[in-house]
Amino acid sequence: MTTLTVVPNTTPAADDFDELAQRMALVACGVREGKTRACDEHQRKGMAILRIASTGALDALALTICGAERPCTTCTAKAAEIIRIYNEAAR
Ligand SMILES: [Zn+2]
Ligand SMILES: [Zn+2]
Repeated sequence: MTTLTVVPNTTPAADDFDELAQRMALVACGVREGKTRACDEHQRKGMAILRIASTGALDALALTICGAERPCTTCTAKAAEIIRIYNEAAR
């Protein structure tokens, strides 16, 4: 049996991390009443979104969410919201 590398206390637990990524994926996908999960496509982007959000790079995040060459205003707003969620969770 192999011993796993001990994760420092400063990083969130894997579960928290995953939960945060899911929440961000949902925002990226578009929050609607009664909707609790992002679509598969945004679900897959969850971890990438979380990683970019941790750097605070709004433009890069909007680009990732939008998937277009230039992010639209909707996706830029979503990116700002995701960074806000990250900052709140990181506190
Ligand atoms: Zn989606
Ligand atoms: Zn867009």
